[in-house]
Amino acid sequence: MTRQRRKKVHDGDTHLKRRWRTKRRTKDLDEINEDIKSENCEKLLNQEVDYDKPGSAQHYCVHCARYFINDQALTEHFRTKVHKRRLKALETEPYTIQESERAAGFGSWVEAKKRKIETQQPLEDSESSDKRMRVESN
Ligand SMILES: [Zn+2]
Repeated sequence: MTRQRRKKVHDGDTHLKRRWRTKRRTKDLDEINEDIKSENCEKLLNQEVDYDKPGSAQHYCVHCARYFINDQALTEHFRTKVHKRRLKALETEPYTIQESERAAGFGSWVEAKKRKIETQQPLEDSESSDKRMRVESN
């Protein structure tokens, strides 16, 4: 055989396919933008025990829309590249129609604001806010 059969030439193209994969598909950035608003954030961090979710849905990263099995896995995730990259991606404010109008020449140019995105507080904090809420309801 003169010509060697080339197999799997697109083997390293995972980054191109990942966008369309649905196996580990999480929320899109615009959905997460909704989630990090304080009232939604609180709800997501104090989820009810759901045995279908990893770790019974008690360890959740709002910014990455991911569940973790325990507290250690969650805090370790906070230190990873994926999480930091996600925080960086969430820093710029979401695109708006107003911004597109400014770009088209209506109004004056305003640079997209940078938000300070911080990793959610460890669980002790959410528990104490939970207690506060209980006190208020009594
Ligand atoms: Zn994360």
